[in-house]
Amino acid sequence: MKRRRKRVKVNYKNLFILIFVVAVLCFLVFLIFKKFNTSDSDNKNDNNKSNVVSDEVKDHLKDLGYSNSDIEVINSKVKKDDILSMENKNDNLVKYLGVKYFHIENIDRYDKYMDEENVSAEQAIMEVNIGIDKPFYTDIKTIDNPNDLLVLVNKYNALPSGYVPSDLIQVEGERMQREAGEAMLKMVEAIRNDGLTLNLLSGYRSEEKQTDLYTDYAASDGKEKADTYSARPRHSEHETGLAMDVSDGWYLEEYFEDTPEFDWLQKNAYKYGYILRYKKDKVYESGYVYEPWHYRYVGVEVATIIHNEDLTFEEYYVKYKGLY
Ligand SMILES: [Zn+2]
Repeated sequence: MKRRRKRVKVNYKNLFILIFVVAVLCFLVFLIFKKFNTSDSDNKNDNNKSNVVSDEVKDHLKDLGYSNSDIEVINSKVKKDDILSMENKNDNLVKYLGVKYFHIENIDRYDKYMDEENVSAEQAIMEVNIGIDKPFYTDIKTIDNPNDLLVLVNKYNALPSGYVPSDLIQVEGERMQREAGEAMLKMVEAIRNDGLTLNLLSGYRSEEKQTDLYTDYAASDGKEKADTYSARPRHSEHETGLAMDVSDGWYLEEYFEDTPEFDWLQKNAYKYGYILRYKKDKVYESGYVYEPWHYRYVGVEVATIIHNEDLTFEEYYVKYKGLY
């Protein structure tokens, strides 16, 4: 008995310290919880509209045959009006909603493309947004920002008729827009300092020049074949003054991809703001044969993203510029 009482007495001291420590900890936890809770409720307010499923939305989606978990997903990502205008259940919808650049306006085209091309939802969305579910040179848009350094010129986007870039400079024997040209000269200097050879064979071309080129090619090879290697007038990047064809020699041939010069460009072009525009594994996407010689200026920031993520310029547009 005596021994026991003694032990209890000693423990009072420890107990006091313990209570003090627990109290401090509780206070800290309270502070953290309070902070977390505040920001959480802020978020809830922001998302309030999308998190609560209205009965109208819920009933409509239920009638179409969606499960409760699908309804949650659809409600959080699709606008109420778009949900209410749905007439049938789409078995791909939840899959589509997992892709960031999905646009509900294109849903029928995604369905059709997935069926016909047997590709994933993500690939279907990417390629339909680029426009390649439609034949080349159909549904052509006239570019309204031709002076933008990031201008997208391809078989669906045409430069305005008569467009001439305003600030062309001489780049060795060719011409380019100033910023692109100055970057090209730096790149050429760097590659030559590494003991390699790079000749600049074709830079800016006027609309007239592109017309003559394409007309000649079409006359000798037929339009269909000419379209695989030559752009129709107003559709060539060379008309922007932002592209350059390069070679270690004096011809533009596919062998260039086996040269140390090509290797150097693969590793370094992006540091000067240049991208390889027509990639070997994306011929179907661009509609052009592989062109290891054609480099396009987009600036260092964008070129770095495209390089790091191994994108085409069109894919960059879908992912980062909202193209669809
Ligand atoms: Zn070219």
